[in-house]
Amino acid sequence: MSADIKKTPETDPNSVTTRKPKVAIIGAGMSGLLSAIKLRERGVEDIVIFEKADRIGGTWRDNTYPGLSCDVPAHMYTYTFEPNPEWSNRYAYGPEIFQYFEHVAEKYDLKTLIRFNSEVESARYENGKWSLKAAGGGLHVADIVIGATGVLHHPNYPDIEGIDSFAGDKFHTARWDHEVNLTGKKVGIVGTGSTATQIVPEIIDRVGKLDLFQRTPQWVFPLPNKAYTAKQKARLRADATLARKIRDRYSRLFEMTFAKAVIGNKFLLWCIGWMCKYHLESKVKDPVLREKMRPSYQAACKRLIFATGFYEAIQKPNAEVVTDAIARIEPDGIRTADGRLHELDVLVLATGFHAHNFMRPMELIGKDGVTIDEVWAEGAYAFKSVAVPGFPNFFLMTGPNSPIGNYSLITINELQLSYVLQLVDEWMAGNADEIEPKKDVTAAYNEALQNSMTTTVWVTGCKSWYFNDFGKLAMWPWSFDRFREAMSAPSLEEYELRKLDSIPKVGAA
Ligand code: NAP
Repeated sequence: MSADIKKTPETDPNSVTTRKPKVAIIGAGMSGLLSAIKLRERGVEDIVIFEKADRIGGTWRDNTYPGLSCDVPAHMYTYTFEPNPEWSNRYAYGPEIFQYFEHVAEKYDLKTLIRFNSEVESARYENGKWSLKAAGGGLHVADIVIGATGVLHHPNYPDIEGIDSFAGDKFHTARWDHEVNLTGKKVGIVGTGSTATQIVPEIIDRVGKLDLFQRTPQWVFPLPNKAYTAKQKARLRADATLARKIRDRYSRLFEMTFAKAVIGNKFLLWCIGWMCKYHLESKVKDPVLREKMRPSYQAACKRLIFATGFYEAIQKPNAEVVTDAIARIEPDGIRTADGRLHELDVLVLATGFHAHNFMRPMELIGKDGVTIDEVWAEGAYAFKSVAVPGFPNFFLMTGPNSPIGNYSLITINELQLSYVLQLVDEWMAGNADEIEPKKDVTAAYNEALQNSMTTTVWVTGCKSWYFNDFGKLAMWPWSFDRFREAMSAPSLEEYELRKLDSIPKVGAA
């Protein structure tokens, strides 16, 4: 190649016209592993993945509750570059998803990059470098940081009077205590979200009595989960394009239906509502229970529950849906507002997560000593979900307003990462030492985002974790095509790209 032709990292990652950044990735879950694989493909080798736990897997490590599965089709919840012909069912179960990520970590030799039991406590930016301080370790300096900390990883322990006085076993669903034998026990589950509805059918035949404490009824969309036959798996193994075709088919279906419904397609919303209503009315025989479980809001306003077997399980003679408000928790059980004590041996908190923390409680200190807590004092925001003004060379996976309520998270993260890596290319090509989104562009972007929420299903009159504490929706209000387009390539005029004297120039790295 002649000297006057500009090489790009993509065409030649080993070119002398590129420099290799030191990259720190925070989190060894689905998006952290993905980041490392794709950075390596770019020729970046100096990568450290900080992981707070002693194993990879993120949410699939933390959640081990009975019945854990993923309500996104398995072949769609798979990296595009690593199809898995072994998925057992249309919707995969938690342990096999965890195994899949273990397999990926082994195959791509990622474990050597990971520092386990190393929760990053702080990351400070100064003059082109990030200094990270992890639990039990010294300082680690990086040029670029990728925050791959996930969304639903801080359990929400409800602030219910007397909760600490409970004398039996008590745990959050994301910290399931497998030492506790539920057989024959009086079990109480607080919460009726996706998690609780997966647990109930799985444990109902083992427990003595199950009380499900419902604060708000939920719409449940029926989701049969057929197993892949041995013959189907053999075909998937023999033809590597087949899994891709299945993925593409599900993706198109998802985009044409659910992803359109949630952003306001009235007909599709009506169809979803009708299916949920039909599910409730055809499955719940007792009219009193049926009305107790009938929500008063539009289906898909709260995170829609996809399940089969839940209604059947909750109607078994040893199950009860308790709709009286919880007054307090006592040593022997839960006392409801009607004065009744629901005696319990085991209390399961299926009470969800703090979904708006992102990388916090890590202390993130950007330019001029500004902290992320200060910048996000009135709620988390980012530019295109991946970058925040004032925090150069720091990129987020599944940051604020990612389309988490619209689509498969793996596809979302693959698209976000390809966008981020194009910004990293600018650093590698020496075109910039500091890259951050422009403040005014970010403000205008977020204003447009929030203004567009008015037509979505999420604002139709329900309370959900999609809202942050400041009443703002942390969702993506537009089509998935628009997201794909937004992630196709960064517009560099929307960013500040600065050179710094102190940073080694291209060729000197
Ligand atoms: P969630 O959807 O946030 O549900 C929490 C439940 O706890 C709600 O029913 C809530 O009632 C109740 N609750 C919270 N605090 C309470 C209190 N103080 N008193 C009484 N009830 C209380 O949590 P989740 O079921 O763990 O699911 C969280 C998210 O994880 C899901 O929305 C989904 O995105 C993800 N998830 C996905 C899958 C999957 O298959 N892909 C499976 C499981 C979870 P209110 O409704 O009244 O607030």
